[in-house]
Amino acid sequence: MQATIITIGDELLYGQTVDTNSAYMGRELALLGIRVREILSISDDKAAILEALARAENASDLVLITGGLGPTKDDITKVTLAEYFNTPLVSNPEILAKLEEFFTRRNRPMLQSNADQALMPEACMPLRNDRGTAWGMWFEKNGKVFVSMPGVPFEMEALMQQEVLPKAKQFFKLPAIIHKHILTAGVGESFLAERIAAFEDNLPEGIKLAYLPSVGGVKLRLTAAGAEREVVQQLLDAQLAKLQPLIEEAIYGYDDDTLEEVIGKKLIEMGKTYSTAESCTGGYIAHQITLAPGSSKYYNGSIVSYTNEAKNEILGVKQETIREHGAVSEQTVREMVAGVCKGMHTDYGIATSGIAGPTGGTAEKPVGTVWIAYGSPNDIRTKKYEFKASRKINIQLTGLMALELFRKYLEEKG
Ligand code: AMP
Ligand code: MG
Repeated sequence: MQATIITIGDELLYGQTVDTNSAYMGRELALLGIRVREILSISDDKAAILEALARAENASDLVLITGGLGPTKDDITKVTLAEYFNTPLVSNPEILAKLEEFFTRRNRPMLQSNADQALMPEACMPLRNDRGTAWGMWFEKNGKVFVSMPGVPFEMEALMQQEVLPKAKQFFKLPAIIHKHILTAGVGESFLAERIAAFEDNLPEGIKLAYLPSVGGVKLRLTAAGAEREVVQQLLDAQLAKLQPLIEEAIYGYDDDTLEEVIGKKLIEMGKTYSTAESCTGGYIAHQITLAPGSSKYYNGSIVSYTNEAKNEILGVKQETIREHGAVSEQTVREMVAGVCKGMHTDYGIATSGIAGPTGGTAEKPVGTVWIAYGSPNDIRTKKYEFKASRKINIQLTGLMALELFRKYLEEKG
């Protein structure tokens, strides 16, 4: 069982639009255990489309296509599909009614080019698009499936979730596949690999391990597959139970967890609050924290204290501390935590101060030097890092490590 992805659109080839649809479809198919054999990006050109369809039909059981379904003349995917499957275009009354409703509600006239969107190849099953006017199409030919979807990513994603993936699961009678993501921060891929080498060598048949590194963290993915869902789940649970104790201190969560949300849950459990005082991260940590809905229950806010004056006047960092040790120093971030806890009336605080770069480094404090402090005013901990990345990545790494250090601190506290 394998798939081909075809993305259609001149803009993809000119480099004006990045082909994110392929990545999305590839990820979703992988989750179902369907191997993508190739991704073809082609122009809005009849010969190119026909050629890609033939190539895909030859090699794959499932073909996912996006793009070229708009109402304008440059979009020719639909007529080309009708030609390929040798089927006429006929007006679909349900789609036409929906289009009329759509234009009436917006108080806009429906043009012929709009009405033409109700034309569907007779041989296809139309796939409802709740988010736009171009419906999807599902074709079946000799046990193979071809699906055409609009290019607009958020329309395509809804069609995939609501129509394509459920239908594909049924049509192809896929084996049960279960994935478990184990999220770690602050340790490298090779460190993890060494820790779990024996575990990895002894993985039973039907289960796989993958390393997915990103900035400052590594996601481990366990994938189990088999005929029976329950058996697969048991297999996965048993391996997960073996893996967890090997890297326990590095694991902050699973699957869709985020560090901020894990911290939030813990603070709610403890009935405590926190705030941040950010210099080099400039509000980045506050932004991350407030991406979690309901974060005002445990997070009071941030002071972006970028200058020495702000650190002194708003957070109460002593002038002599900055003069003697510098703004990027252990003493300064300690006083920032104390100041922000006091000013924001929180139990805990996190502070950052560093040289994000690319300029501003010295021999003693090179670019990438960062001090982080965290904790409660009577138990402030600190840590220094020397990151070696670009300004943007240094900021991201600082935010990630600050939150990870604080998460571990909370683990220890209760
Ligand atoms: P279309 O269905 O060809 O009218 O595409 C509509 C819009 O969707 C295009 O203008 C692009 O902005 C976007 N789009 C099309 N194909 C892709 C793709 N493969 N990845 C991301 N965006 C796309
Ligand atoms: Mg197009």
